Amino acid sequence: VIGIRRLGLSAPLSLLAAAAADLSRIEQLAKQGVIGTDDFKGSIYASEEVKEALWEVQGHKCCFCESRYERKWATVEHFRPKTQARRGDGTVHVGYWWLSYDFQNLHFACPNCNTPKGDYFPLEPGTAPLAPGEHPDTHAESPLLLDPGRDDPARHLTFTRVAGGFKIMARTERGRQTIKATKLDRDDLDKLRSDHYKDHIEPVIKVFKQARRDGDNDRQAEAVRRARQLTRSRCSFALFTREVFRHFKLL
Ligand SMILES: [Zn+2]
Repeated sequence: VIGIRRLGLSAPLSLLAAAAADLSRIEQLAKQGVIGTDDFKGSIYASEEVKEALWEVQGHKCCFCESRYERKWATVEHFRPKTQARRGDGTVHVGYWWLSYDFQNLHFACPNCNTPKGDYFPLEPGTAPLAPGEHPDTHAESPLLLDPGRDDPARHLTFTRVAGGFKIMARTERGRQTIKATKLDRDDLDKLRSDHYKDHIEPVIKVFKQARRDGDNDRQAEAVRRARQLTRSRCSFALFTREVFRHFKLL
């Protein structure tokens, strides 16, 4: 999961204009209780302009797995599901239709993460969902999934060494639910992260350790510089990379 910094990034004007024009139609359908997935226009929430803006701000990465992904084949994910919301206890509620065109509710996601998540949106047990018209900026809600646009993933997720690679682990219940919902512990993804470790992270750690043994400050500093480069937000698996380098005290 990436902590997206959207500060200063405003919604594309075309999204604002189209949303304003279409939302009253959706509201009517919602009031009649006949709203369906096809009633939301992908040409609005997943327009080329929206996709481009999300793709750029997320460093060309999926908001959940941090794999770099081509824009064309990715989906625009609604963090709060638009049509219906499946809660942790299996009950299904009306979705967050009024946020269907809200830029802050939209993320760029790969199908491998977005498809399993679907309309699953569990809340802290005993807490109330947002009411129609309420926005998470101004009204509190307690989702059990991590919002890549609002949460700091390092507080909720970590990684642990296992035979042959690493596994993602939850630090919190919200981390656990997010791993479960988006299948962040899938085998292929573990393999990609392990490859990334072997190809990019491990060589830097080796140089750093050797330089420390040799008392070579310049080479140590160079390794730290390289470690910082690999954790820039545009890099694949930046959260994972940061955790590993922190573990080895390079950061
Ligand atoms: Zn993904």
